[in-house]
Amino acid sequence: MKILVVDDDGFALQLLDRQLANLGFSNVVSCNHAREALTRLESDAAYFGLVFCDLQMPEIDGVEFVRQLVRIGYRGGLALVSGEDERVLRTAERLARAHHLDVLGALHKPVTLSALQGLLSLRHASRCDAPESARHIYTPQQLRAALDGNQLINHYQPKVSLASGELVGVESLVRWQHPDDGLVEPEHFVGIAEKHGLIDDLTRVVLVTALRHGGAWHAGGLPLQVAVNISMENLGVLDFPDMVEREAAAAGMPLTHLVLEVTESCLMKDPLSPLDILTRLRLKRIGLSIDDFGTGHSSLAQLRDIPFTELKIDRSFVHGASRNSYLQVILEASLAMARQLGMKTVAEGMEERADWNLLRTCSCDVAQGYLVGKPMPAADLPAWLREWEGRRGELTSRPA
Ligand SMILES: [Mg+2]
Repeated sequence: MKILVVDDDGFALQLLDRQLANLGFSNVVSCNHAREALTRLESDAAYFGLVFCDLQMPEIDGVEFVRQLVRIGYRGGLALVSGEDERVLRTAERLARAHHLDVLGALHKPVTLSALQGLLSLRHASRCDAPESARHIYTPQQLRAALDGNQLINHYQPKVSLASGELVGVESLVRWQHPDDGLVEPEHFVGIAEKHGLIDDLTRVVLVTALRHGGAWHAGGLPLQVAVNISMENLGVLDFPDMVEREAAAAGMPLTHLVLEVTESCLMKDPLSPLDILTRLRLKRIGLSIDDFGTGHSSLAQLRDIPFTELKIDRSFVHGASRNSYLQVILEASLAMARQLGMKTVAEGMEERADWNLLRTCSCDVAQGYLVGKPMPAADLPAWLREWEGRRGELTSRPA
């Protein structure tokens, strides 16, 4: 792979050069000036597979450089390097991603060999993922046929108490069991369902299946809370609460153990009917969770207007929080607010032991994420639970 490094600081340039050589990358072009780098890239944008760019440069700074990369149609990887503080670096990283550049990450100066190695291994990993993202796009007709042909199934991801490690519930996550493509993740078809008027049917299938599994768990002595995702788009049909009540009764699932995780869409046509429906769902003792709290439209205004019982903190505030003091401040404030409003708190994206310990210390109620368990078919839950019972003690042995 050909690599281009641009930095106005000659020493930093030399250092990165040598480190890359140590890691076996010998084909490295170094530039002292951003303009020179752009000229090189412009003459053959496909030649370079990776660009390291300093943020703080005279004439053209890193942000403008990123904009120029987009203009010349650069398609390779990008790594940002800077001595600026964490937040500036992260913001620049997000900005580059928003331009659809293939951003590997950001490195602090002085760059360490291990940080560089970590970043380059990401390059390798994202290459390996390429066939996955090349999966084809489905038509609404195919999705309709899948709905009718019972190809949509639920997986369940465990939610456990941070204090005791006890399994308290599961979140239902839809998958498409595709006859040719295997198990298809929701990001490949939920958008299509939303755009083509299939989202009500999709939600209904997920809900009915989840209620049936929930009813069976309750009957079998495992009184789990079952969460189902709904979007505000689902809340245009006024008899939604009655439908939920009917289906829950048929499945033997108590409404007190059903939680609807609500995400808001920015395309709300009629703001009154969701309020009507959500209020009636609450009157039926169904739990309402504000999903992905802190992002997009899951905002304070929603907390003010809707009788939520649970606050689900978005994974982007949880993952890596133990290493990021800004995230810790946001987390603590969100948790304190939820507590004062009498809401239960759930942390999504729990993947690391250090984040687990942090969220325990902050008295968050429930955790969900790979550290606990991945989404799985209903039939795998008993085996997961046995495995979890064997290791939960170690995660909860220390007092929070
Ligand atoms: Mg959710």
